[in-house]
Amino acid sequence: MKSLRYYIDANWVEPKAVEVHETYNPSTGDSLATVPYARKDQVEDAIVSANRAFESWSNLAMTTRVKYLFAMQRAMERHADELAQANSENHGKTLAESQGDIQRAIENVECAIGVGYTLAKGDNQDQIASSIDEMMVKEPLGVFGIISPFNFPIMIPFWFIPYALVLGDTVVVKPSEITPVPMQRVVEIFHDEVGLPPGVLNMIHGGKDVVESIISHDLVRGVAFVGSTPVAKLVYRVAGEYGKRALVNGGAKNSIVVMPDAHIPNAISSIVSSFFGNAGQRCLAGSNLVTVGKVHHEAVQKFVTAASALKVGHALDKGTEMGPVVTAPAKQKIMEAIEEGAREGGELVLDGRHARVPDHPNGFYLNPTIMDNLSKDMRIVKQEIFGPVAGVIQVDDLDSAIDFVNSNTNYGNMASIFTSSGGAAREFRRRVDAGNIGINIGVAAPAANFPFGGRRDSFFGVLHAQIDTVDFFTDKKVIISKW
Ligand code: NAD
Repeated sequence: MKSLRYYIDANWVEPKAVEVHETYNPSTGDSLATVPYARKDQVEDAIVSANRAFESWSNLAMTTRVKYLFAMQRAMERHADELAQANSENHGKTLAESQGDIQRAIENVECAIGVGYTLAKGDNQDQIASSIDEMMVKEPLGVFGIISPFNFPIMIPFWFIPYALVLGDTVVVKPSEITPVPMQRVVEIFHDEVGLPPGVLNMIHGGKDVVESIISHDLVRGVAFVGSTPVAKLVYRVAGEYGKRALVNGGAKNSIVVMPDAHIPNAISSIVSSFFGNAGQRCLAGSNLVTVGKVHHEAVQKFVTAASALKVGHALDKGTEMGPVVTAPAKQKIMEAIEEGAREGGELVLDGRHARVPDHPNGFYLNPTIMDNLSKDMRIVKQEIFGPVAGVIQVDDLDSAIDFVNSNTNYGNMASIFTSSGGAAREFRRRVDAGNIGINIGVAAPAANFPFGGRRDSFFGVLHAQIDTVDFFTDKKVIISKW
């Protein structure tokens, strides 16, 4: 079994771990690697190395840093298939889903290359007063911590890494302890084929204690975090206490609204992939289906038919349309949420609790589950389940749908509407309090050159992930001169 190591100062370091856990292949239930949780002194080593690298890295010509990013992009392209396989093996999502993740990670490197030549620039005003010129430059700050969740093991770290590096900062990356293997492989490839200067990119493993050690360290200037809302709130608060910059994405409970004038055949395939793609473990996954008026019966019937046809199986098997969920405890938690929903009065029109994949009896499988006749006050429509479970709510009109979206939970990550009315779509996008809006789109995932944000309990901070990080990873300095 593979044993993960830390990457510090361009060396693979033998871990001195406080504890060692295992990470799994959810398709088989087999252990994939051991994950050492870093001791505080090794976290410190990584931070000190990043800090040492900062001076020379930030003083390199932009054109030189950009060339490193081109090398990263080419290495990722060369190894895209292998990385997608590693992603599926550790997470359980299908190969096609992983290929999409790797593609988006590469696009973020490409976008950061563009940033190096465009948005990294400052501003200048000649003759702002008599014989006086004023200039603004964007300067990198130093060491940043990058902390990611389990569900996009490679893609989410790449919402941040390429931008921090091209702008002249250095990083300490801590992948999710649940799915750390794919990022380990990325860093191995970069070590062998990119040759970043020592200390520019460091990686350690672990959980909560490592995160705390990163945030609290004097040499760390800020933290980019993505994870569940309770942890996001904690990270944002602690970062504030230490006076650090923080960009913090939290959890979600997304609603998908279907209007009576929606084109149902098109809508249903999008809706199925929104709720059940990645086995529902996506911060942009649909969670509540909100049917408006008379469309309810037809929408639910076709949703159930399409969802029950999905082929559930091993992530890497050809033909698999939905893989397992990430761990045995995650499966248990999802089962409990379904049971609670049924106890609250939900009608299980599709019960996915008894999934069987005969070749892999120890995998963490669930089939798609759909629960109808839910009402606003039930816990199942409020709590983030993060699994292949859809709740269905019926409302009378667009106003009630918007009211439900904005008030059933305090999350505001994504909301979608399926309609053929431009007026309804416009009302929806203007009045819904969420960071990402889909119109006839089930998963409204911003491309790399757009900000990936959220509202209310789904996001804490000001600047968002992806291209928006240009102002997170730099600070503006103004120079006024008179000659
Ligand atoms: P999580 O909150 O359990 O873990 C995220 C990271 O935080 C991990 O690296 C983990 O080691 C660390 N962590 C855990 N407990 C901590 C603590 N007490 N103090 C400091 N750090 C701690 O999340 P997860 O289960 O890995 O990922 C799923 C969650 O992430 C879901 O809630 C999902 O909605 C959310 N998510 C949000 C987005 C977004 O863009 N808004 C994207 C992906 C996932």
